[in-house]
Amino acid sequence: MAAVVVTGAASGIGRASAQALVADGRQVVLWDLAPEVTAVAADLGMPGAVVDVTDTAATAAAIQRLDGVDGLVHAAGRVIPEPVGAYTVESWDAVLDVNLRAQAMLVQQLLPQLEASARAGGTPAVVGISSIEGLTANPFIPAYCASKAGLLGLTRSMAAQLGPSGIRINAVCRGFIRTPMLQIALDVDEVRESFVAAAPLGRIGDPEEVAAAVAFLMSPKASFITGT
Ligand code: NAD
Repeated sequence: MAAVVVTGAASGIGRASAQALVADGRQVVLWDLAPEVTAVAADLGMPGAVVDVTDTAATAAAIQRLDGVDGLVHAAGRVIPEPVGAYTVESWDAVLDVNLRAQAMLVQQLLPQLEASARAGGTPAVVGISSIEGLTANPFIPAYCASKAGLLGLTRSMAAQLGPSGIRINAVCRGFIRTPMLQIALDVDEVRESFVAAAPLGRIGDPEEVAAAVAFLMSPKASFITGT
């Protein structure tokens, strides 16, 4: 059975997405920079590997080891809280490379397998994890905001190009979710309270609540949804 590659799968949204896809009966391959990914994968009974998604040679080699791929969930992500006046070329590139460039390169590298899946009657799909910070203003993390807004442009462009081949691509703009990435902010009472106050549902979300949307968009139930 062809597999869905899930990046950032050792933690947070990526791990929850891998779990949700497995619960849906999908074959999943878990990638992350963090070595914990192999234990997370073993718990799910799925293959896992330490892969740096910004290293195109490493991702190409990892893809060569796969039997067939019918999907990608790009949940690997990074935030460096540096406003204008603080960021550097290196820190700007570090954020953009993981959050945005990696998805562009991965879809390109996986394209032959996604096209083969469509030709074989499958329903190949890609979901990227964007953010409300790709839609609204956060003054503390300009590189992150740019990466997440860029992901939306990338999603629409790729959807327009790949739709005729039967490949769907969507993004999830999630709110504030309790994951290790956000924990440092949640530990500051006034920051956590401002997140809660800004949330219509009046609370911080859980990774599983994003994973449910990811699993839906990856499934044939979302067969007429692309570029969204
Ligand atoms: P997380 O820190 O729990 O997970 C991110 C994972 O990405 C980590 O396991 C990390 O090791 C992995 N990763 C980072 N760089 C990598 C690389 N070069 N190669 C492979 N893996 C790499 O955080 P999360 O909240 O689950 O983040 C998932 C996605 O959600 C990210 O794209 C993040 O930007 C986005 N996001 C999170 C929030 C939030 O509220 N938590 C808000 C907006 C967007």
